[in-house]
Amino acid sequence: MTSESVAFPLWRPEGTRAEDIGPLYEVIGPGVQDNTIQTWRDEVLETIEKEMTALDEGLRKLSLDIHDHPELKFEERHAHNVLTSFMREHGFEVTEHYVLETAWKAEFTNLDGKGGRTLGVNSEMDALPGIGHACGHNLIAMAGVAVALAAKKALQVHKIPGKIVLLGTPAEEGGSGKELLLRAGAYENMDACVMCHPAPGPIYGASLSSCLAVQRLVVEYHGATYVYRLQMAVDLPVLLTPLVPHSAHAAFSPWDGRNALDSAVVAYTSISVLRQQIKPSHRVHGIIEGKDWAPNIIPDYSRMIIYSRAPTRAEVSELVPRIRSCCEAAGLATACEANFSEPSPTTYELRQNKALGNNFADVFRKYYGPIDYEFGIKDASTDFGNVTYALPGLHPGFSIPVPPRGANHTIAFTKAAASLEAHQACLNVSKALALTGVRVLADDEFFAEVRQTFEEDKSLRLSQVPG
Ligand SMILES: [Zn+2]
Ligand SMILES: [Zn+2]
Repeated sequence: MTSESVAFPLWRPEGTRAEDIGPLYEVIGPGVQDNTIQTWRDEVLETIEKEMTALDEGLRKLSLDIHDHPELKFEERHAHNVLTSFMREHGFEVTEHYVLETAWKAEFTNLDGKGGRTLGVNSEMDALPGIGHACGHNLIAMAGVAVALAAKKALQVHKIPGKIVLLGTPAEEGGSGKELLLRAGAYENMDACVMCHPAPGPIYGASLSSCLAVQRLVVEYHGATYVYRLQMAVDLPVLLTPLVPHSAHAAFSPWDGRNALDSAVVAYTSISVLRQQIKPSHRVHGIIEGKDWAPNIIPDYSRMIIYSRAPTRAEVSELVPRIRSCCEAAGLATACEANFSEPSPTTYELRQNKALGNNFADVFRKYYGPIDYEFGIKDASTDFGNVTYALPGLHPGFSIPVPPRGANHTIAFTKAAASLEAHQACLNVSKALALTGVRVLADDEFFAEVRQTFEEDKSLRLSQVPG
């Protein structure tokens, strides 16, 4: 990889005012169509390109169909059905409802798989509450299909033994679906796994940035008291039921209540104060929820969902106890019980495999556009991070046209995820990913390098764990 850098503008839709274009960003490589870069077997890429061109219309329909039917985490039933039908129609063996209700698996084996390896690919499907496909998972679903089908064609045409496993992975948005699939062994036989994700970024670009690890914490406050306290006077056994709600009229006798909303507000404020003492690369954010709240009743219940993020899993594990202390102290200050739980497994940062990344970057820079290490989903998180801890993985971001302040999780991004430019950008990244994946199956020397860089990174991340 060369170190020369070139300036590209952040991708904005046509017609945007000049002042909204924003600054230029340095990206690595000269970008589009640099024929001086050496890449692996151009004739295989040609097969991949032809196959994706042939599939283009069907892929576009699939993407828009999923976009038009946004479904929340673990409820991706429409996406499950249209994607499994599509894969079956295209010669893959499909397992519906694989491990999780809305997960699925599509497999293809070439030349009996003799002596071959297995390439894993992931398709995400879920949308966000109220704002639909504001993370563009319709494009990710389509990219998984495109990579798997083009790789299948390449194996057949060039007589490469091996297996392709495309997993439909539910609940990326807060559900850690991939970690649940990992625990059930869904990734066990894969030699490498690839996927991609849309984001704002340099025009026509792809990004090999990492992202943040995240741990989710739920704290429930009960303005309550234990039964045994009430029953001691009559000398009965303790704790027949653990808690009795302890509410009160908010004007008549507020001193009789225990205010669980106050607990949440104090915790929220303590976390806001703590923010000055954490690194700028860390993120803590959350919401407060209630049940049966009214302004004239002292609320005896509240619930906070708090996400703590940091550049590595190790840093998150140091951050979370500090957040927990804020929540515990708030409970103590307001005489409410604080009960903690974790709604989903911890998500680790992305460990982009170096050999896979370099190969992808060369192909992408030669034919499609620039590469950067700054954009993608750098300040967000993905459960694919956990996959990259378990096996060699690659998760490039790809730029789609967005308006100013229209990044992921906005209604503007939902619109961008249905645009023709986004579709084209998604196909470009899918082509480079498919070639990288086929190389894993076909090139022993390359695969040895993939394994070696995986092991090197493993030692590095283990050295980062606090003693
Ligand atoms: Zn996403
Ligand atoms: Zn998202």
